[in-house]
Amino acid sequence: MAAEIRVFRCLSDNIGALVRDPATGACAAIDAPEEGPIVRALEEAGWRLTNILVTHRHADHVGGIEGLKRRFGCRVVAPQKAEGQVPGADVFVGEGDTVAVGDLSAQVWETPGHCIDHVSYWFSADRALFAGDTIFTLGCGRVSESPYEELWRSLARIAALPGEARVYSGHDYVLSNARFALAVEPDNAALKDRAAEAERAKEEGRFLIPSTIAQEKATNPFLRAGEPAVARAVKLEGAAPDQVFKALREWKNRF
Ligand SMILES: [Zn+2]
Repeated sequence: MAAEIRVFRCLSDNIGALVRDPATGACAAIDAPEEGPIVRALEEAGWRLTNILVTHRHADHVGGIEGLKRRFGCRVVAPQKAEGQVPGADVFVGEGDTVAVGDLSAQVWETPGHCIDHVSYWFSADRALFAGDTIFTLGCGRVSESPYEELWRSLARIAALPGEARVYSGHDYVLSNARFALAVEPDNAALKDRAAEAERAKEEGRFLIPSTIAQEKATNPFLRAGEPAVARAVKLEGAAPDQVFKALREWKNRF
């Protein structure tokens, strides 16, 4: 049976997500930014939390774990490379591992770049990727502790997923990301439409998560570092995509 997925806001701009297996009732939170909104989302849906799948060790992704664990006794799955840094972690995973949520199954991908311990969870049967702070709608995570090329490789791997795959990211930064994307590619028609959609969503209290791989490849400048127009925008025409990516990321840091 298909996974049931709910997304909602936590903290100021984090996105919480719940993934439930309707066959067994097992339910996973992807990260635990904040206990209250996760409990409310569970109550609204009538679901019970059995797992927390942690993407990375940053405080705004793990702050709700201990309260949720006390309340639900759920099992906490965390990246191997964050061992000792995720409160309440029960199981550690890395590249190639599989995590079960009832009868649902997620492949663990190591997607370093935003930080070295970052993993993403790919529910292949449901074509759903939970990518934490690796990729955002129209943007990508900041690079904090490794070479820029490492995040580029993680993004390139994500971009190779099927176009219809849904991407769930850990923050809603779509309006500021859209402003930057339009500065890079002012003539990208698909991007102009997406930016207008983001404005409408904001007015209606919605957010553009999930996105799809096809939408991101058409509009997200960080996935488009191989496009000549994007290379021209950072005066690196003909350069390798990872170098264009690095220049884009540095520009965004100052934007
Ligand atoms: Zn983070």
